[in-house]
Amino acid sequence: MPRSTVARIDLEALRHNYRLARERAGDARVMAVIKADGYGHGIRQVARALAGEAPRYGVACLEEAMAVRKEGLAQPVVMLQGTHAPEDVALCADQGFQPVMHSDYQLAWLRDAPSTPDFWLKVNTGMNRLGFPADDLTGRVEPLLASPALKSALQGFVTHFACADDHDSSFTLEQTRCFKAAVSPWPDLERSVANSAAHFFPGQELFDWSRPGIMLYGASPIIGVTGPELGLRAAMTLEAPLIARRVLKAGDSVGYGSSWVAEKETPMGIVAVGYGDGYPRHAGTGTPAAVNGKRIRLIGRVSMDMLAVDLSEAPETQAGDRVELWGNQVSVDEVAGHAGTIAYELLTGVTARVPRLYP
Ligand SMILES: *Cc1c(COP(=O)(O)O)cnc(C)c1O
Repeated sequence: MPRSTVARIDLEALRHNYRLARERAGDARVMAVIKADGYGHGIRQVARALAGEAPRYGVACLEEAMAVRKEGLAQPVVMLQGTHAPEDVALCADQGFQPVMHSDYQLAWLRDAPSTPDFWLKVNTGMNRLGFPADDLTGRVEPLLASPALKSALQGFVTHFACADDHDSSFTLEQTRCFKAAVSPWPDLERSVANSAAHFFPGQELFDWSRPGIMLYGASPIIGVTGPELGLRAAMTLEAPLIARRVLKAGDSVGYGSSWVAEKETPMGIVAVGYGDGYPRHAGTGTPAAVNGKRIRLIGRVSMDMLAVDLSEAPETQAGDRVELWGNQVSVDEVAGHAGTIAYELLTGVTARVPRLYP
């Protein structure tokens, strides 16, 4: 019998979240971002589940775009990091992949390639990771437009927000203004700015294509707000069995470092999940979990293959009962908060040891 530590994937929740993104996107079309193995949910299954809804997919790299094609799906796939090698350009053209080019060396590859894929240009409006300078776009765009093949392949412009998760920051507005001004000479080309957070940013313009990722999986893109509070449903439930129980006496400690010590008699359980499964080691005492419909809390240190929980709130719990580490009862955003990280890292970090189960 395999261990029953699993990640249950709810593809209906994924579709619900995609539809919420579409509602919030207004007139913009919504490209489903499914990079990093569909944020840990399984890129093949996620792509297939959204195939009836999403007109386009967004991924980071060529391997991920190929995974979509191998599922037999025909939608264009936008490669958000562009191409990594010159020979990939013709492959993109052949496969219907749309690289987002961010550097001059990639434009040279485009010019020299035997065939031209539809492509985008990345504009740097302040994130300062990738992109052509907003104040020097003309020098890139005009030479491209001079070539008929490149002109008909150029889809438009992409930029990425640095602070859209923070409603108190004015930087998103600044980036939007910068972007609009930079691309205004080419009104016939398309524009794409929005990550998940931008779908919830008050008054934000989303232009032609939005690019939600994290919200599709039910986690929150906004600081201090959880996914369920935004109307999102958890697409992943990380679940593991309780495999032992004991009653600690006052003064007993538990786990490595004996870091947690019982102040009073405490029923406790051991759950078969740990950082070897991608559960964050930095989630300390007090991190919530759920069992038998009740919320419980972690105690002591997370180890590689197990962790300890305080069963005071669910004393009837038996070995074999299933504990939810995150899902619809305990949002992954809450766990991330306790671990000093973000849901993105937890979802993409569930290791290969944990089988993903699909309905
Ligand atoms: C990952 C990514 C997205 C999606 O971001 P979320 O915050 O997960 O919605 C959108 N655009 C680009 C360029 C990305 O790299």
